[in-house]
Amino acid sequence: MGIKKEGIKLINEDGLRIDGRKPDELRPIKIEAGVLKRADGSAYIEWGKNKILVGVYGPRELHPRHLQDPTKAKVQCRYDMASFSVIDRKRPGPDRRSIEISKIIGEALENVIFTHQFPRTSIDIYIEVLEANAGTRCAGLTAASVALADAGIPMKDLIAAVSVGKVDGEIVLDLVKEEDNYGEADVPIGYVPRTGEVVLLQMDGDLSYEEFEKALNMGIEACKKIYEMQKDALKRKYVKVATEIVEEVE
Ligand code: UDP
Repeated sequence: MGIKKEGIKLINEDGLRIDGRKPDELRPIKIEAGVLKRADGSAYIEWGKNKILVGVYGPRELHPRHLQDPTKAKVQCRYDMASFSVIDRKRPGPDRRSIEISKIIGEALENVIFTHQFPRTSIDIYIEVLEANAGTRCAGLTAASVALADAGIPMKDLIAAVSVGKVDGEIVLDLVKEEDNYGEADVPIGYVPRTGEVVLLQMDGDLSYEEFEKALNMGIEACKKIYEMQKDALKRKYVKVATEIVEEVE
């Protein structure tokens, strides 16, 4: 964002973007629930060229005990990017960006998890980005919601998330890396379909009020589609489990 992009055209004469999408079109998304045996809940998401794995543990007793909250569970999220997830090798371990993303995803999820049902415990969410091409915080949050549901953790609803922004003066949905780098704005949105709440909203760059309204509406409409994919992933997982149980009994 904000890098001068002399000569780089992000939208062509036909109004299509560098990967051929229309302004309000999502990249292809595939979600799988329950992909890890050891974790209490898990999910894997492929979203365009992003590949992200999420494992969830808990609610489990929080250690050290002085960090326990007697009124509710503590939601602890760690977003991590593998060294091989980006073109220039990423230095392993936490940095400013991953600490920020861990914090905003954890805080978004605290809005939907019934934390008061599990005092003194922690719910741990590990988001591992294996390949990145912009929008990883939204893809990570989308997958983390599915992993939490897969762990059987009671929630108000899932959170669906997507990024919207502005490139070459146009409001567009679900930015790829070039659009993120050379565009005018990037606005990640996390939306709770059942309540209509927005639980994640950030803005890098500038938008007028009218542009922001248009971007927000575009993002919310896309979140409703992503929500259907999340529910579908969970249904497929439970059909698979039910089939395995029936086969075992027979
Ligand atoms: N990125 C990178 N190296 C880094 C961090 C980010 O190449 O150390 C890339 C990666 O493709 C990422 C994109 O920049 O998805 C945009 O990063 P941003 O901070 O906007 O977060 P995101 O869009 O992934 O939520």
